[in-house]
Amino acid sequence: MKNYVVFMLVLFILLSCGNEKITQIKGPVLEKKNTASIDGSYLTLLGTMQDGGQPHIGCAKKCCTDLYLEPNVERQVISLGLVDQSSKKKYLFEATPDISRQMKYLERLGEQTDSKMADGIFLTHAHIGHYAGLMFLGKEAMGADKVPVYAMPRMKEFIETNGPWSQLITEGNIDLKPLQHENEVALSEDIKVIPMRVPHRDEFSETVAYKIQGSNKSALFIPDIDKWEKWEKDIIEEVAKVDYAFLDATFYSGKELNNRDMSEIPHPFVLESLDKFKTLSKTEKNKIIFIHLNHTNPIADPHSIESKKVIDLGFRVGRIYDTFAL
Ligand SMILES: [Zn+2]
Ligand SMILES: [Zn+2]
Ligand SMILES: [Zn+2]
Repeated sequence: MKNYVVFMLVLFILLSCGNEKITQIKGPVLEKKNTASIDGSYLTLLGTMQDGGQPHIGCAKKCCTDLYLEPNVERQVISLGLVDQSSKKKYLFEATPDISRQMKYLERLGEQTDSKMADGIFLTHAHIGHYAGLMFLGKEAMGADKVPVYAMPRMKEFIETNGPWSQLITEGNIDLKPLQHENEVALSEDIKVIPMRVPHRDEFSETVAYKIQGSNKSALFIPDIDKWEKWEKDIIEEVAKVDYAFLDATFYSGKELNNRDMSEIPHPFVLESLDKFKTLSKTEKNKIIFIHLNHTNPIADPHSIESKKVIDLGFRVGRIYDTFAL
């Protein structure tokens, strides 16, 4: 009996130390940034990098060499968190391979609840950086309970008919919610989300951009698109309709990938976008926030001359945890 009491005491002390450790985790990833001044709903960038993240597998260049041993937790794959203050709910755009950290950050935003999971996840397309994080919702990791996952028809069918994703449905981890091109989803009285198809390499699914409409402001989220000219819509007109435009800026220029054919992975280069938007007014330029940065893209480094150039021209570069009132 005495041994049992001692054992329980030791166990209690060990467990309390464990908890203490958890609450002591600090660092930029868990620090809330500039949300205090926002009363209403808002968006927060939970990642800004391209699908492959950083360090990027196989990269021997300066951008990644130091990061294999000492990762920079601020370099996470593109994701946008949405805090809807009117319904006290939180949503995630994209399920990235970095979803564990991103979900933790989202959990700490807005109203504090017991929920460790977003109230819904919106997917753009079936490229690894944008949906592969769903794997962490399954049995091997979280074992989530019917998380609403919003997807377009081909994306939905892809998940339903291919393992391991289909198991998320059979196990009840996710609840797929169908989306249609330009059909509005009203998340609450304040927040509406509208998917819009965009041209991209659609091997397994279609690709969408999202328009997120708040009670005061709205945002356009286009993490992946082939080229502005290939879109049936005029990007300049679309930027004019919103307050924030998060735009695909995967590569700075055509010179970045020396051993791969850039025509096979088309994106609007930052230099092309700067040229495309050069005649816009100061206000219009300031709406544009470049995101989805490849590890090789010099604007991923806030101190690079290229970053400075983009900012000096009146545009913005998305940085993790930047927050935008809706
Ligand atoms: Zn991507
Ligand atoms: Zn690299
Ligand atoms: Zn893609």
